[in-house]
Amino acid sequence: MTHLLLHIDWTRCDGRGLCNELLPEILDRDDWGYPLARDHSGDPTITRRHLTAARDAVALCPRSALGLIPPRQG
Ligand code: SF4
Repeated sequence: MTHLLLHIDWTRCDGRGLCNELLPEILDRDDWGYPLARDHSGDPTITRRHLTAARDAVALCPRSALGLIPPRQG
């Protein structure tokens, strides 16, 4: 597997922005502090270079709103 996707569960996220601080090259932040994918996708791509930081973000998200998922097939 060459990459994973960072999935954000919007029903859980409360926009504190910790994930933005851990993944500044992947996530921007809107005016309310909610994460926005810089690639404008719903689930931004996480390559090997950002995998450790992404795993940290998943583990540290105070709302358990983040997950790493495999790319969709097809
Ligand atoms: S760390 Fe979690 S709760 Fe905070 S903005 Fe990111 S996804 Fe939302």
